[in-house]
Amino acid sequence: MIKYNLKCKCKKTFESWFSSSSEFDYLKRKKLINCIYCNSTSIEKSIMSPNLPSKSNKNISKIKLEKETKNQLLNLRKYIEKNCRDVGANFAQEARSIFYDKKTSKGIYGSATNEETKELLEEGIEVSTVPWVKKNEN
Ligand SMILES: [Zn+2]
Repeated sequence: MIKYNLKCKCKKTFESWFSSSSEFDYLKRKKLINCIYCNSTSIEKSIMSPNLPSKSNKNISKIKLEKETKNQLLNLRKYIEKNCRDVGANFAQEARSIFYDKKTSKGIYGSATNEETKELLEEGIEVSTVPWVKKNEN
C-alpha cells in the first residue's frame, strides 16, 4: 500500500491509500478519484515526503552512531574506573612495578606519554590506549 497526498484543483489536499502507483494512474485515468471536498476529478499527486534515507537522515544516523560509540566508551571508562586503580601520571612506573613484581592482579589506569607507552610495549607489558571520553558532555 502506498499513501499519496493528493491535491485537487480547488487547492485542498487530502490523503488516500492505493495498492500501487499504477492503481493511482488507472483510477485517475478512469476519473474514479474524486476530491473529498468538491468532488472534482482533477486530482494530482502532490509531492510527498519519500521514506528514503535522505541526507539529513544520514546525518541523524551518523550522530546516533557517534553517540552510541561515545556511550560505549563511557561505559568502558566507568568499568575501568570501577575495576582499576587510578595511578595518574605514574602509569608507566606502576605498570612496570606490577609487571616485574607481580604484586597485584588489579589493573591500573592513568596517563602515559606516547614514548612511555611505546617503551612499555617493547618491554612486553600489555597496555592499551582507550579514548578517554569526557563525562556529562553531549
Ligand atoms: Zn477539490
